[in-house]
Amino acid sequence: MTTWRALSEGWRTAGDLVFPPVCVHCARLVEGGNLWHLCPQCATLVTFVKPPCCRVCGHPFYGEVHGERCCPHCAELEPAFREGRTCVLLKGPGRSLVHALKYHRALHVLEDIAALIRATPGMVDYVRGAVLVPVPLHPRKEREREYNQSRLLAQLFAAAGGPGTRVAEPLRRIVDTPTQTALDRRTRRANLKNAFALRKDADINAAERYVLIDDVFTTGSTLNACAMVLRRAGGVNLDVVTFGHG
Ligand SMILES: [Zn+2]
Ligand SMILES: [Zn+2]
Repeated sequence: MTTWRALSEGWRTAGDLVFPPVCVHCARLVEGGNLWHLCPQCATLVTFVKPPCCRVCGHPFYGEVHGERCCPHCAELEPAFREGRTCVLLKGPGRSLVHALKYHRALHVLEDIAALIRATPGMVDYVRGAVLVPVPLHPRKEREREYNQSRLLAQLFAAAGGPGTRVAEPLRRIVDTPTQTALDRRTRRANLKNAFALRKDADINAAERYVLIDDVFTTGSTLNACAMVLRRAGGVNLDVVTFGHG
């Protein structure tokens, strides 16, 4: 398995020879600051998520929160997982990073994403000691893209979580669903029903804590479809973490 580090170092070496380091959000040169691919000005615009937030998707609440901590978008999700957390809001530079990773093969942004994961309040503790399960791509899609961004992110979360935190891939995507972006919630859910299955060699242990990892939380339909398969297989101690929410 190619690790994110090898990929991102390869990119850096190749990329820096050809391109000076430019900000993925505003395209200015990156000079100073703690990140490689976001300039210091854009870095200050990254919106980290911190409590209080929706217990299902991790979207923050603003102001005072009373009673049930579930946002209106998640009210009808009926999650098969316990709770969801996210690192940053998918707007501004946060969105640019995810888009660079997902659609522009810009694997070098993984080093900045790793830094943002570690900087998210409470995130390192949240994933520590868990078995991290990336949402799988269909093999056709993975061949086309040449990597699964959720697997690369799971490796970053595992590195942040430290000893005892690991990545496992017990799921496979058996239906090559069309891209879900333009579809409403009901259609997404129907398309995703039975889209995932357990691998033959999957070893689910009810005593372990599982955390599903995906790049973004949108409607939660994909994560929930995965969660249902894991739960049915006995992975009942199950949460969800995404890098972005939007
Ligand atoms: Zn910038
Ligand atoms: Zn929510």
